[in-house]
Amino acid sequence: MCVFTHFAAGALAGSFLPVPVAAPLLGLGSHLLLDVIPHRDFEDYRIEILLWLAAMAALGVMGGMTLPIALAGLFAVLPDLENLLWKLGRLRDDQKIFPGHRPGWLRHGRETGRSSIVLQIVFTVVVVAFLIRRSS
Ligand SMILES: [Zn+2]
Repeated sequence: MCVFTHFAAGALAGSFLPVPVAAPLLGLGSHLLLDVIPHRDFEDYRIEILLWLAAMAALGVMGGMTLPIALAGLFAVLPDLENLLWKLGRLRDDQKIFPGHRPGWLRHGRETGRSSIVLQIVFTVVVVAFLIRRSS
């Protein structure tokens, strides 16, 4: 999934936590689940990063960010750091360690059509709007 989708899913999961203690595990777990779903990513990773930063900024500026949301959202994004390093040529494919990013017991979802990207953007916008509204 796109980086901003991982952030939104982790943030949404984190928003239901009363305390931040489980937020990192929830974020990492949401990354596993989303990567299994068939999807498509942007060819240009910079677009994903910009949309992720925009989602975080919207939450930060408009008041939807809490510690559990921030932690779960960031830990949901964290595994894709190795994908970024791989895209930048700093990491070989066989050096990836996160399940779903490398061959193993968890298979990465197959690539689908461009509608997946539209759905991911809509999902992220809805989650960000929900979190902002819920905090007000
Ligand atoms: Zn991933």
